[in-house]
Amino acid sequence: MSTHFLGAHTIDNGGIAQAARRAGAAKMTALQIFTAIPKFYGDRAGIKPDRVQAFQSALEHAGIDRAHVVAHGAYVLNTASTEEEKWMRASAGLAKELERSTALGIGAVCYHPGAAKDGDREAALGRVAKAITNALRAVPPGTRLLVENTAGAGMTIGRTPEEIAGILAAVPKALRPRTGYGLDTCHLFAAGHDIASSEFSLREVLDAFTDAVGEPPAFFHLNDSVGALGSNTDRHALIGEGQIGVEPFRWLLADARTQGVPLILETPQSKPEIAEDDIAPDPLDVRMMELLRSLEG
Ligand SMILES: [Zn+2]
Ligand SMILES: [Zn+2]
Repeated sequence: MSTHFLGAHTIDNGGIAQAARRAGAAKMTALQIFTAIPKFYGDRAGIKPDRVQAFQSALEHAGIDRAHVVAHGAYVLNTASTEEEKWMRASAGLAKELERSTALGIGAVCYHPGAAKDGDREAALGRVAKAITNALRAVPPGTRLLVENTAGAGMTIGRTPEEIAGILAAVPKALRPRTGYGLDTCHLFAAGHDIASSEFSLREVLDAFTDAVGEPPAFFHLNDSVGALGSNTDRHALIGEGQIGVEPFRWLLADARTQGVPLILETPQSKPEIAEDDIAPDPLDVRMMELLRSLEG
């Protein structure tokens, strides 16, 4: 039996419980959600117990283990910011992300570490680590806080194995097991990591991250890339309709590092305006799930 936990960031019209039901309807065994509106800091947004209850029971009905659910942090949380006030809000927002995810009892929350306007990457790694450390100190253990690799546009942090490793190494040892990282295939490719030319080169990229950080990724985002290798363009395409193509995803699923961790599609969907009470999975999510299952071999 496959121990691939495949899912998507399903559409959450009607709330996160509906997102879980749509995932279940597409036979997904992993899921990604937002726990607050992703374009806001969410540094004051809590989560009510009845919403937690509804979500957890929807997951149970869907047959999705909470350990395989990832929350995606708000995009505005720039924990690498050189501006004190922005950094404070991002840091507070990150702690709130972790608080909401912990209340939901899910496996992890992931986020993009941000960008350093002044170009001092070394100092930026320290600021990101400090925000992660603050969040971990503010919230009791339960849900892991994971850094996602980035497509590397401008001064964004988290595009190389060394940057991810540098962030995590600056987190105090006692807290270190509660953090980690995940890899997005589109971001890897856009950042110039060649995962598409051969199975060997894909493995070399995964090895570079695993060796630098000292552990394998805790999740993968499975996205094809609109932009070319090294384009630094963060634009996701349906698998097989971008510059990466289908075969690299077959190679990826054959790598033992994709076993036992959430594998999440963040690919285009066709019905973003689906009615709140309609739990039909998005047709494109269904198509992607079928494609991935066919690649599992
Ligand atoms: Zn991603
Ligand atoms: Zn992306």
